[in-house]
Amino acid sequence: DAQLSAHEYSFDRIFGLETEYGLSVTGTDHAIEAGAVAVTMFRPVVEHARSTNTYEPNGARLYLDVGSHPEYATAEARSPFDALVNDAAGEQIMRSMALTAQQQLRKQEQRHQASTAQTNSSQALIHLFKNNADSAGHSFGCHENYLIRRFVHLQDITNQLLPFLITRQIMTGAGRFADGHFRITQRATFVDETVSSATTRSRPMVNTRDEPHANPEQFRRLHVIIGDSNRSQWATRMKLAMTHLVLCVIEHYARLEQQPASPTFIESQPSSTSPFASFALADPVAANHAIDEFGAHAVITLATGEQLTALELQQRYLAGCQQFLTEFSTHVDRSLGEAGAAQHIADEWQSSLELLSRDDFESLAHTMDWAAKLQLYSRLVSRMLQINLEQAQQMLLGRENAQQLPNAVSARLAQLDLDYHDIANGQVFESLVRHGYVRQEVTQQQAEQAVSTPPSHTRAVLRGQFIQAAEQAGVRFTCDWTSLEVLEPHKVSIQLLDPFVSSAAEVPQLTQVLDDLVQRATQFRASH
Ligand code: ATP
Ligand code: MG
Ligand code: MG
Repeated sequence: DAQLSAHEYSFDRIFGLETEYGLSVTGTDHAIEAGAVAVTMFRPVVEHARSTNTYEPNGARLYLDVGSHPEYATAEARSPFDALVNDAAGEQIMRSMALTAQQQLRKQEQRHQASTAQTNSSQALIHLFKNNADSAGHSFGCHENYLIRRFVHLQDITNQLLPFLITRQIMTGAGRFADGHFRITQRATFVDETVSSATTRSRPMVNTRDEPHANPEQFRRLHVIIGDSNRSQWATRMKLAMTHLVLCVIEHYARLEQQPASPTFIESQPSSTSPFASFALADPVAANHAIDEFGAHAVITLATGEQLTALELQQRYLAGCQQFLTEFSTHVDRSLGEAGAAQHIADEWQSSLELLSRDDFESLAHTMDWAAKLQLYSRLVSRMLQINLEQAQQMLLGRENAQQLPNAVSARLAQLDLDYHDIANGQVFESLVRHGYVRQEVTQQQAEQAVSTPPSHTRAVLRGQFIQAAEQAGVRFTCDWTSLEVLEPHKVSIQLLDPFVSSAAEVPQLTQVLDDLVQRATQFRASH
């Protein structure tokens, strides 16, 4: 429609992914607390930055809250792939911190053994888990962040987005073997509320705490809590990509219905014309649990009373997106910076749903974490119990002959499950990748390069330039998502409220601050 300006019809989005990691140590003759390991891991960070809360030259945030779960939050990215690459860089950073800490730990252990005249040399191993649950039954998160337009009514998030987020787990679940059962997700049993602004006591699926890190009149930051940490790079990219398409449709209809309203659209109504308007679930928490247990074929109930499987609801979401793309694919392509990108996402989504409808676990294992695990575990159970693969699989899924697995088998499965997620010393996932069973999307070289290079076309570029310049100049500085601050010799603060700005010339004062830092870096080098 020529009457609508390009700006009004932008689907531009910011993507961000936060990952909390789990920690443990084996190979020592006495227990070492995860908290102590986390502190050792962050010692170089604290020496360098005087804080456990830092931003990296690639624009990402690296921090340690109280407790023992180091977190890496990707820089703002304009596409799911850019977010994936920045997240892969996070794995590199975390792995190298863990392996450095491991060396220190081994030295400490050797000194300890020498002083107590022990002879058996311990080989401490640090395990750094990109997963969401520890053996003590605690859960930790992987949050997705999406910049969305403020005119979308919160009720539309509950009605139209939540059923999608719950059912997409049939593709993005990371799987888990726990309490004698195979489940397709890591987190589902820990999430007990739908949409809420609280995070401490309750665990909502979507958190609505209002911190947009952008112009609050235009935007909201959608904070998705329901979702597993994925080792599969396909799953990491596709969960962001499919959610983007669904959000584009939701925004499109909200925008259409709100055209004549006030410029800030604050007084909006829930949408009635969206193809997803009737997808609200009768009981989201129950649906979430059913999907965790039964996957794609779990039967769920809509608020309208209709019953269907998780797979069927996903097919309806896909159909809605495909219909939307017949008219708006170039708009969505533009938001992702790549011709054909939108159709490509829909195609991959469609072929995944087709494989799911046929229970083609072998093909699914190339892309989906839970399916890769199911294959792996079936092979182990089949070997240990001397039964065929099919029987082993049915046993794990608890469908037939649901006899209790022997303890020795359960214990090995639990071990395998942890190893799959261990990015420091794990063997299982790495071996799947090496043998071509799991498809990787980011090369080692791309990931390494992204340790020092921010995603393009967002303010992360400016944050990265600022951090690199300030470090080279040897000055004290701080930053957060929306500001940069030089602390000496006098304070200068730069505001970066617009996440889409990536050129210093567009930010008042920034060019001058950067020039100044570069000059001081030259002086700094000369004097050292
Ligand atoms: P918590 O750890 O307490 O949940 P948080 O989720 O509010 O904190 P961070 O851990 O700092 O925040 O992570 C913020 C994430 O949001 C990052 O991945 C970042 O790239 C992303 N982000 C930053 N600005 C925006 C924005 N305007 N819209 C969407 N995402 C954003
Ligand atoms: Mg966080
Ligand atoms: Mg968060």
